[in-house]
Amino acid sequence: MSVERTLSMIKPDATRRNITGKVIDRLETAGLRVVAQRRIQLTKERAEEFYGVHKERPFFKDLVSFMTSGPIVVQVLEGDNAIALNREVMGATNPAEAAEGTIRKEFAESIEANSVHGSDGPDTASQEISFFFSSDEIVG
Ligand code: ADP
Ligand code: MG
Repeated sequence: MSVERTLSMIKPDATRRNITGKVIDRLETAGLRVVAQRRIQLTKERAEEFYGVHKERPFFKDLVSFMTSGPIVVQVLEGDNAIALNREVMGATNPAEAAEGTIRKEFAESIEANSVHGSDGPDTASQEISFFFSSDEIVG
């Protein structure tokens, strides 16, 4: 097992329902440690840049609109195998397919408004962390 860091976002559907604490409790209970955190409002330009990999997908415009519809909480999570562990705790993208006990099964409203983001691999984790945080903002 190796200690990793991953980028997490609590999405606007969750900030709107005032359940950021419930989401963070799931992450911490699973063994992930919040080593950086900030509540922000994404601009259209920043959301388009963050989700650039999906720009040809049919849901891209709606996704950018959703992600800018309210505040988000961006976090760096640290722990043993943090990248895969966070994806496991999050559950499948579509809450209808998410396993029992996962954040998306419990809290997501739809395949779009699915409460959380987590990096999907080591390369995206390091890119996504530096998209939001400088190294002096991450305190392990
Ligand atoms: P994940 O967040 O599980 O890594 P993706 O990277 O495939 O999923 O998609 C990024 C985000 O785009 C999803 O979390 C979700 O908010 C949105 N999304 C993905 N697929 C769809 C879809 N078919 N319809 C609407 N929104 C979608
Ligand atoms: Mg993804």
